[in-house]
Amino acid sequence: MAEDFIDAWKEGSHNYRANNEALYKQLKKTKGKQLDKVFHQLHGEAFEKMDCLTCANCCKTTSPIFYPADIDRMSKAVKMKSAAFIETYLKVDQDGDYVLQSSPCAFLGHDNKCIVYESRPTACREYPHTDRKRMQQIVNLTFNNAEICPAVYNIMERLKAIGT
Ligand code: SF4
Ligand code: SF4
Repeated sequence: MAEDFIDAWKEGSHNYRANNEALYKQLKKTKGKQLDKVFHQLHGEAFEKMDCLTCANCCKTTSPIFYPADIDRMSKAVKMKSAAFIETYLKVDQDGDYVLQSSPCAFLGHDNKCIVYESRPTACREYPHTDRKRMQQIVNLTFNNAEICPAVYNIMERLKAIGT
C-alpha cells in the first residue's frame, strides 16, 4: 500500500501548487474548524496505510528546524557538546534558524530508521503537520509538503476528490 502512495506521488506531485489552484482556493475558503476536521480524518487514514520506513523522503530531502531544546537533546544523544554539534551538523538559514548542513540527514540510517529517534527534533516528530490545529494557517506549507511527502499528496488528492 505504501508503494501505491509513493507511485501516485511520483506521478502527480510536481509543481503541485501551480497545478492545483482550484484546490488552493477551496481550502482557503473552508472554515477553520471544518478544515481541521477533514485534514485530521484524512491524516489518520493516510498514515494507517503509509509506512514511513519505505519512504523517508522528508529525512532525505529537507531539514527540520533545530530549536535550542532540540540541540541540547540531540547533542547529548550523540555525546557531543552543543557547540561541537552545531559546528558539525548545523548551519543558520535565511530565516535565522538552525537547520541541517546537508541532506540526507546525517542521522538517517541505511534502513531509513532515524538513529536518534527518541531524541529527534520536535519538527521531525510533528512532520508533516497535517494533524495539527489551525491547518488554515499552513495551507501554503502543506502544498509544498505535497511535493515532498507521499502521505500529504494522498491527503490533498482525497481533499480534492471529496471537497471540504
Ligand atoms: S515524507 Fe511523509 S510519508 Fe515519507 S517518511 Fe516523511 S512523513 Fe513519512
Ligand atoms: S533527525 Fe531523524 S527524523 Fe529528523 S530528519 Fe534526521 S533522520 Fe529524519
